[in-house]
Amino acid sequence: DHADLSGLLLSRIRDVADYPEPGVMFKDITPLLADPKAFDALTGALVDVAHRASATKVVGLEARGFILGAPVAVRAGLGFIPVRKAGKLPGATLSQSYDLEYGSAEIEVHAEDLGAEDRVLVVDDVLATGGTAEASLQLIRRAGAEVAGLAVLMELGFLGGRARLEPALAGAPLEAL
Ligand code: AMP
Repeated sequence: DHADLSGLLLSRIRDVADYPEPGVMFKDITPLLADPKAFDALTGALVDVAHRASATKVVGLEARGFILGAPVAVRAGLGFIPVRKAGKLPGATLSQSYDLEYGSAEIEVHAEDLGAEDRVLVVDDVLATGGTAEASLQLIRRAGAEVAGLAVLMELGFLGGRARLEPALAGAPLEAL
């Protein structure tokens, strides 16, 4: 059940203090990826989210969203679309910049990969401030597609990402496993 799943997943996430900089508690998912039972359980739970949301495509956010999202897309029978940091995609892109604590960042998607017929589930490992996810939802809407939902392994609730994302989600579900 849900408590068992959450317990298994939590037990495979390693807290690394002061990485990549002082004051940050980094959530390292590599122990989970190395455990086939835990990775399979996570993938299955995300496939359930994709089905409940009636998604037609899975978007993964670079880089850990690629690792988690790709097997979900394959198992659910859906296309996988990478949202990348700026400058990595060779085709015609839509790009969206967003503010960081210091400076800004930019993400991109191949414009031809999304269209009006799509309902998109966004997958990432950790929801922190929500800036990255918010920018990805804006990209999806600008591409003419619908947002089916956002699914993350883990939500750092104290950073307020869920509240920040409310307008961009516009009623679509945010699921943190
Ligand atoms: P944010 O845009 O602030 O929600 O940050 C989300 C992105 O940064 C995700 O792609 C995460 O992989 C990564 N991230 C942010 N904070 C952490 C953390 N404490 N541990 C691991 N990854 C994090």
